Amino acid sequence: MTATTPATKTTSSSGLYRLSEEQLMLRDAVRVLADERIAPRAAEIDRTAEFPEDVRQLLATHDILALPFPEQYGGVGTDLLTVCLAIEQISRVCATSGLILAVQELGALPVLIAGSADQKQRWLPDLAAGRTLIAFALTEAEAGSDARAVRTRAVRDGDDYVIDGAKRFISHGSVADLVVVFAATDPSAEKTGRRLSAFVVETDRPGFSVTRLEHKMGIRGSPTAELAFTGLRVPAANLLGEDGDGFGIAMRTFERSRPGIAAQAVGIAQGALEVATRYARDRKQFGRPIGGLQMIQAMLADMDAQTEAARQLLYRACAAIEAGDGDPARWAALCKLVAGDAAMRVTTDAVQVLGGYGYIDEFAVERMMRDAKITQLYEGTQQIQRLVIARSLLRHA
Ligand SMILES: Cc1cc2nc3c(=O)[nH]c(=O)nc-3n(C[C@H](O)[C@H](O)[C@H](O)COP(=O)(O)OP(=O)(O)OC[C@H]3O[C@@H](n4cnc5c(N)ncnc54)[C@H](O)[C@@H]3O)c2cc1C
Repeated sequence: MTATTPATKTTSSSGLYRLSEEQLMLRDAVRVLADERIAPRAAEIDRTAEFPEDVRQLLATHDILALPFPEQYGGVGTDLLTVCLAIEQISRVCATSGLILAVQELGALPVLIAGSADQKQRWLPDLAAGRTLIAFALTEAEAGSDARAVRTRAVRDGDDYVIDGAKRFISHGSVADLVVVFAATDPSAEKTGRRLSAFVVETDRPGFSVTRLEHKMGIRGSPTAELAFTGLRVPAANLLGEDGDGFGIAMRTFERSRPGIAAQAVGIAQGALEVATRYARDRKQFGRPIGGLQMIQAMLADMDAQTEAARQLLYRACAAIEAGDGDPARWAALCKLVAGDAAMRVTTDAVQVLGGYGYIDEFAVERMMRDAKITQLYEGTQQIQRLVIARSLLRHA
């Protein structure tokens, strides 16, 4: 994709990667910021289940929300790997906070991919500055994995479209200023895959409402909203690309947003590994640290191996996607599949290493285990990632 003009590029040839000096500096700076400013808030964000507006401001002030945006719109113009490094470091201490950047990128990608020059100029500068937030609304009650089954309708009326319908499970749906809404403009175009169109909807338009907020297992500070559109009018100028482009835009978005979820997963796994390792070093049973017990050592070693393997696949996938090396949908699905499963296993083992203390909220690993689960579910479940990978293999066989 050429939507961004990377200022911080991966040293890459044929999609292989080596982190550049700039990337290492950025990674370390985000890590320090996360440790000092976000980690102390993480347990409270989880407990109160309130969107951390202070963290959003922090990420905006430090230009972290600007990373995915081209420089001409006030962004930093980094490549995909650099964005993922930032999501990983934030998620290492707080998965909800890592998602603020991941969702800003997810929502902005349809504009970056399919927006006209005017549309980009209209929306991207405020998004890059973190003055506005954007959400991505594809899922509906009856259209989850089967995204083509979207029922929300958009009907052309003069220079406007009128949108009616509802969306379910929309991250940041209740705090966003803009929502990219996927709606059926041609319900008869089932076979051609051109049923859907994508619209940027300002959430202060009459007819937009938040009808419910979910009570969740994890990422509890990230509001997950049900949205309703009732006779909502948007000008045709808010249509992204052409009428019927919506499904294609959504799929191309996932090719670049799924690595962000893999980065969230790697960050969560790394955070849990660090807590478990420190605990194993300090906790004594039978007169010595449990870290001296081989069964604990084996768990720590497996956790490290799984986390590092997922990380290396993620970085490789980012470089390959950026370099156009192979099928981007396959790379995106591979890294999300492996990282999501690694995060779930590693956090579950981290709880085991801490014993009973892993099960109570005095330590972060129980939160991390709850947070890890979502990485196996959203932006396509693990089953859907496998379908994407297998289809890619068979297509190219
Ligand atoms: C916290 C949270 C945040 C989210 N954020 C967003 C967002 O910002 N924007 C957005 O649009 N959506 C969002 N989602 C929706 C999410 O992407 C969907 O929940 C997900 O894609 C799965 O859809 P579903 O829940 O309807 O499950 P279903 O599609 O009903 O799946 C149920 C089960 O069946 C399996 N399954 C379904 N189809 C197949 C198949 N063909 N082959 C094999 N197995 C299959 C699934 O893997 C799963 O195990 C969010 C969801 C959650 C929980």
